[in-house]
Amino acid sequence: MALDCGDQNFHLHFTLFEHNLLFTGPPGTGKTMLASRLPGILPPLSHEEALDAAKVASVSQAGLDMKHWATRSFRAPHHTASSAALVGGGSRPRPGEISLAHNGVLFLDELPEFNRDVLEVLREPMESGRIIISRAACFAEFPARFQLVAAMNPCPCGYHGDRSGRCLCTSDQVQRYRGKISGPLLDRIDLFVEVARPKQIVINGKGRAGESSSAVRQRVIRAHRIQFKRQGVANGQLESAGVERHCGLNTQNVTFFGQAAEQMNLSPRACQRVLKLARTIADLDRAESVNQNHLAEAIGFRQPARH
Ligand SMILES: [Zn+2]
Repeated sequence: MALDCGDQNFHLHFTLFEHNLLFTGPPGTGKTMLASRLPGILPPLSHEEALDAAKVASVSQAGLDMKHWATRSFRAPHHTASSAALVGGGSRPRPGEISLAHNGVLFLDELPEFNRDVLEVLREPMESGRIIISRAACFAEFPARFQLVAAMNPCPCGYHGDRSGRCLCTSDQVQRYRGKISGPLLDRIDLFVEVARPKQIVINGKGRAGESSSAVRQRVIRAHRIQFKRQGVANGQLESAGVERHCGLNTQNVTFFGQAAEQMNLSPRACQRVLKLARTIADLDRAESVNQNHLAEAIGFRQPARH
């Protein structure tokens, strides 16, 4: 899936709440700006969610700042961050970035530059939405249900595939660079978005660059409400039984999806993520059930598994 953003008119109609996202593109294409705009279009925090965020902040190093009451957090730790900084730790355990990003966005820029071991500790909380830190003397559990938004260059120099042709990286160098992110972590990402440099935002050929942020936000809020009314949680939080129940496909689409998954070598986890994303696309479309277009769009956001 490619995204062109030549101007600064970033209206994130493609941004789907609770779905993890990876931007790939050359430097200077606004990947960081796209990510930082995200909390502004997400649904407002409920009272309960605001209380949860305040509780985490109150035991953090920085403490609670009422200025941030009920705002969705946007945390952007540097790629040199340690695993303790990211997931929490210390002799008297304190929450890390993933808990400070609870119900908000965790932005990891320059994803391949993070220490691989540090990234691997994200896998479990990305599934469970919480993190348990146990030390000899004590034990702590913090919430950690965050939307991961990551960004990376396509190669070490950053210009692989760029029209300028200035990339001289060898295919080995490109593979090694991309290989710094493990398959299981990639499995947990729902949207792979390439950010290029032309003039207008285009997704699937449907340009919606003129849409205002508030209109986008309204659509996201509406889709969010539909999800909570139907199943009590956002689609991104559905477990296997919930996926089966709420993201069901008709026989024709089961065959279509089966063929696509086989061709792309998708793992069972990746398949579940595609179905959840298709459900969200259907909700944004106010559709009762997932149809082939929703499914095809969700598959289009997926990157084939590496061999
Ligand atoms: Zn390069």
